Amino acid sequence: MPLISVAVPVPFLDSLTYNVPDSIEVPPIGARVRVPVGGRTLTGCVVQHDAAVDEGTDVKNIAEAVDREPLLPPSIVELCRWVADYYVAGIGDALAVAMPPGARGKANAFKRRRVAMLTLMGSDPVHGTTQGVDAGHVRGLTPKQDAALGILRDAPAGLPTAELRDRGVTAGVLAGLVGRGLVVLHDEHDERDPFERAVMAGVTPDTTRELTDEQRRAADALLALADADDFRVALLHGVTGSGKTELYLRLADRVVRRGRRVLLMVPEIALTPSVAALFRGAFGTRVAIQHSALADGERHDQWHRIRRGEIDVVVGTRSAVFAPLDRLGLVIVDEEHDSSYKQEETPRYHGRDVAIMRASRERALVVLGSATPSMESYQHAVTGKYVRIVLEKRVLDRPLAAVRLVNMRQEYADEGPETVISRDLATAIDERLTRHEQVLVLLNRRGYATAIFCRQCGDTFECPNCSVSLTVHRARQGWRARCHYCNYSVTVPKACRKCAAPYLEHAGVGTERIEEQLRGRFPGARIGRVDRDSVRRQGTLTRILSQFAAHELDVLVGTQMIAKGHDFPGVTLVGVISADVGLGLADFRASERTFQLLTQVAGRAGRGERTGEAIVQTLYPEHYSIQLACRQDYPSFFEREVAYRRGMRYPPFFALINGVVRGPTFDAAMQQAREIVGRLEPATATSHFTILGPAPAPLGRLRGEHRVQFFLKGTRRAEMRRALMQVVAGMPEIRRRLTIDVDPLSVL
Ligand code: ADP
Ligand code: ZN
Repeated sequence: MPLISVAVPVPFLDSLTYNVPDSIEVPPIGARVRVPVGGRTLTGCVVQHDAAVDEGTDVKNIAEAVDREPLLPPSIVELCRWVADYYVAGIGDALAVAMPPGARGKANAFKRRRVAMLTLMGSDPVHGTTQGVDAGHVRGLTPKQDAALGILRDAPAGLPTAELRDRGVTAGVLAGLVGRGLVVLHDEHDERDPFERAVMAGVTPDTTRELTDEQRRAADALLALADADDFRVALLHGVTGSGKTELYLRLADRVVRRGRRVLLMVPEIALTPSVAALFRGAFGTRVAIQHSALADGERHDQWHRIRRGEIDVVVGTRSAVFAPLDRLGLVIVDEEHDSSYKQEETPRYHGRDVAIMRASRERALVVLGSATPSMESYQHAVTGKYVRIVLEKRVLDRPLAAVRLVNMRQEYADEGPETVISRDLATAIDERLTRHEQVLVLLNRRGYATAIFCRQCGDTFECPNCSVSLTVHRARQGWRARCHYCNYSVTVPKACRKCAAPYLEHAGVGTERIEEQLRGRFPGARIGRVDRDSVRRQGTLTRILSQFAAHELDVLVGTQMIAKGHDFPGVTLVGVISADVGLGLADFRASERTFQLLTQVAGRAGRGERTGEAIVQTLYPEHYSIQLACRQDYPSFFEREVAYRRGMRYPPFFALINGVVRGPTFDAAMQQAREIVGRLEPATATSHFTILGPAPAPLGRLRGEHRVQFFLKGTRRAEMRRALMQVVAGMPEIRRRLTIDVDPLSVL
């Protein structure tokens, strides 16, 4: 019996074993099949041949083979197995991330070329039919239609209709197949070119310019690594504005010339548009873009172009790590420290870490670029596991921005506790406006106010579903209080709900209030705002950023979205309203995050011809992460922080796995968490890990559920994972209530 393992999209589920009946050819690894699961028929993916089962097990037949050729390359299937294992997720969950989105192409007048492919008929469990395409049992097909199906079966990623025509498949034949629902046609449009929306205009690579000496040395080292055609990880530690992008371009060019392909990962496409634009400029249509904000159709088109081998360079966000590129020679992870590489839902993978694993399997070079490397990556560079390449200077000897601290305690004492914008910052903004220079103002908190309370009875507005206070937003019809976790929202009443006193007060400041204050203070200035609320509508972010780049705006207020890799040469001042936003959190990474954010945002100033300055307001001017960020002194920060991590047995010295148990009541969640921890405990006697907790999670309630958490801490992840998987396997009822996060970045 040919037995195969099939991954199906069911959470936490391992692959299932099926028999392939004689009437169906054994589908290859990476091909889709329809299989019975419970009472349903689901589309799964073949992950293994020659599967073994215990004697006497009842093995079901697969219902149908969807693809004759693998849809996913076997290397990606293997990578997904690793992801499922490492992150303690179901194999189907991992594969779901790697699969292209369903074909939902809409007709469009501006078609460029039309591609025909077998329908995903069946891949959608709701609308699927059980009609067997692969078995060729579709009755009533003409011989030509049959032949056309044969050709398409060998090309699961589809074929352009022009090519089909060359192979004797006419439009009429295709139309017949489309009519039967066996084939879909979709258009790949210029219109759909995602670069048009994601990328600011006017960025072209300057191929003629000379590298600086420092860049030259770094380039030589990197090119030599690329020429070795082997797995290596290089950490490119370059201060902001040191010209890392230039190096990425040259390196990518070399690798492509050597006949291998390139994956460039960026935290968020729209926030690092110049990198994507430069690659588009250099590699033209052989670049594809992959990120989750694209419409399904766009992503689908691009995915299939990659799969067909038409693409040399993929630029994308974390899920692009699964792009079906073959002959991968180089993976660049830009801003490798950025937390958006971590997926905060199952499978909770880290794009950078998966990239390194992928490169090691495909013998590719990895380049991790950052001005503020993660503790993990820098530690590997210190021990020699990674090659460290340093760029200490900005290009053209432009100085780093000078950073000035403003002690807000003093400011409150002098100016009153309501002060939001300090005297120093206001004066500096005024100066810049007079000189027609540009200003960035950062506050990593959106909304108008972070809380409301009654001055008479002290009542506060908490979310009924989550243990957080509601954030106040200005809405068209007055004030609204909204939960940033579950989106619950209410109109803010005129009087207190408890005591009816009309003294409701806003507390805490968000970006909306900063914008309002700046408008009041600098009425002549053109001010824009970038945060998740202001950019909710598609295209708005790009529009605001382009306006700012074109100096149609003088001041840009925003959350950490404005701190990332932008290169706005007109900015000479960066103001940070509160450097302390992240420091209060009960999180061992708080200092690291604060240091990164401040260094990055200060790095946005003075990238053009004029020198830059940053003014940082803080209540803790003596805190080391603030002090050292001001000096942009990464090595000292690292030393200080690494000593703390070592002493506290935190990453990168110890690995953490976080488990969160959710329940309808606190007691229910706690009881189940205790049960899990109790079952894990025996393993600690023979293994190298300890268990912390269970204890109430910092975010004790979320979306109406109570949350209790525990940690596994140790030096051998594999042991920890094995113990956890064993316990989970023995408690099937826990699966819906338990979230496991391996190497967590955020532990709320
Ligand atoms: P990073 O990514 O390290 O912050 P960028 O790659 O954005 O730095 O480079 C900063 C600025 O310097 C960009 O405007 C870039 O065009 C410019 N630049 C880079 N290399 C050179 C060079 N060799 N000569 C002149 N300008 C350069
Ligand atoms: Zn809520």
